[in-house]
Amino acid sequence: MSVNESLVGAQTTEGAVMNGEVAYIIVEDGKRLKAEVIDVKSSDVVYLQVFEDTSWMKVGDPVEFTGLPLAVKLGPGILGSVTDGLQNPLYELGKIEWFLERGIEVDPLDNRTKWRFTPKVNKGDTVTGGSVLGTVPEKLFEHKIFVPFSLQGSYTIETIAAEGEYTVDEPIASVKDATGNITQLKMAFEWPVKQPMPFNERSVPEQSMPTGIRILDALFPIAYGGTACNPGPFGAGKTVLQHSLARHSQADVVIIAACGERAGEAVEVFKDFPELIDPRTGKSLMDRTYIVGNTSSMPVAAREASVYMATTVGEYYRKQGLNVLILADSTSRWAQALRETSGRKEEIPGPEAFPMYISTLISAFYDRAGVEILQDGTTSSLSIIGTVSPAGGNFDEPVTQATLLSTGSFWGLSRALSDARKYPAIDRIDSNSKYPSLLEQEEVTYLMELLRDGKTIASNIILMGEKGITDASYIRYQKAELLDAVFLQQNSFHEVDGVTTPDRLRLMFDMVKEIIDTPVNVEGKEEIRSHFNFIRQAFLDWNYMRLDEEEFEKQKTKLLNLVKKRGHVAENV
Ligand code: ADP
Ligand code: MG
Repeated sequence: MSVNESLVGAQTTEGAVMNGEVAYIIVEDGKRLKAEVIDVKSSDVVYLQVFEDTSWMKVGDPVEFTGLPLAVKLGPGILGSVTDGLQNPLYELGKIEWFLERGIEVDPLDNRTKWRFTPKVNKGDTVTGGSVLGTVPEKLFEHKIFVPFSLQGSYTIETIAAEGEYTVDEPIASVKDATGNITQLKMAFEWPVKQPMPFNERSVPEQSMPTGIRILDALFPIAYGGTACNPGPFGAGKTVLQHSLARHSQADVVIIAACGERAGEAVEVFKDFPELIDPRTGKSLMDRTYIVGNTSSMPVAAREASVYMATTVGEYYRKQGLNVLILADSTSRWAQALRETSGRKEEIPGPEAFPMYISTLISAFYDRAGVEILQDGTTSSLSIIGTVSPAGGNFDEPVTQATLLSTGSFWGLSRALSDARKYPAIDRIDSNSKYPSLLEQEEVTYLMELLRDGKTIASNIILMGEKGITDASYIRYQKAELLDAVFLQQNSFHEVDGVTTPDRLRLMFDMVKEIIDTPVNVEGKEEIRSHFNFIRQAFLDWNYMRLDEEEFEKQKTKLLNLVKKRGHVAENV
């Protein structure tokens, strides 16, 4: 055995070992360190990546091969939990010690909780993998208990548990195959994380998913089952945006894969979320959330595992008939883990030392998102939004480029916008989306035209000064600035402004359009600027008012009057 940080070479004595198989390295004090076979070199030499601190490992330590791929245990109890990339519950372990001790394995799913099971099949029924055996209530949902998807062919129900309370480890059914073999089934089963769960039937993402974030819902939307790439330099607002999406997107289930940039960032998510209230249900946000976290103290291999863990759990809840959203922050951390492992394996490196196959892996990851038509005809979805943190904010690097090619929406964060505190700092011109907006397509075009004009005029102002441009141009510029200030910018941290419902987005758009369409015949740059300042302030005040507040309608009238009055004055001149 050879040890090179988390990459370990091992000699096998007991025959065939497969790629992706889980193995345990047994160190001196008897602790078992989990590892995965990542390279089978020859008939008896394999490379393992170890998910734990390898500093105590030494040449000669025995390795135990399990013959099984890295898998996730799927069943009721995942929602509301926080685990690492190997499904070790962090809260459970946290009670013992925050930083995981080496070699500790806790049951991935709570096996003490009794779930109220209601059978949906009878003895003698024919079932196949994916058939529903029964349901249990899990937080906000009826959690379907499936015949494991891995079972091939059809089976007959031999026994089925009566309505009652069971743990995930108790048998609730047994099924018989054509040859008379009996299989015991429980409420939970395992699925290999790197193998996509096959779609029952795949459909195209074309229904927009409201996110509560205006610039996205209006200009760069994501659809149910869609994917988005969110690159940005350090500190431009990727994590704040992800948190906002986690809280406000109209998904049923949110899965956060937190591979933090900063040490402690992931820990912050774990601390914050349980205390947050879901504005839609009035219950804890955690009731529909699952967090896979990596603390920076975890070895690189565990980061890779967490992306796959999140995806597999996402696919499972899509099978439940729900709209699932995965937020991966930051996928660059995952790519870096791949780069490190690839380097240790001495593979031929591609651009910037990333492995050649990086783009294949990235596109395979995003390809697991999508709309699924289930056996019962209902539609469900899995959407993935991944942040990318390219060094120096340079979007030309391999991870950003590969992600860009694999995703349907591109939200590029701009350093210039974040420096100007124009949040969310999503580039207004260079971002794009292939999904439908909550607005009409011609309305999107109308806004984009104004933004482009605004940008052109802004550069003319820089070149020639305000005096160098006409009043008409200056008015157009002010309208673009106003659109940015009152509609595209949004204060994530404000209770009201932080989330905009589709209804409110419509109201706001109509107001913006009214302002843009109303001719302004005020003369002189100073006057024009002051005219728009009044409107902007009144609009911002309006943004901070609740829809159901009495002031809301009053402020709307006030705003309209401001727009029109100035127009009238001008007409009378
Ligand atoms: P990144 O993850 O890209 O490194 P963060 O999301 O941590 O950056 O954002 C850095 C800081 O920028 C935040 O702590 C916050 O002060 C500010 N910020 C980012 N987005 C917003 C926003 N939408 N509204 C207000 N402040 C923001
Ligand atoms: Mg961040």
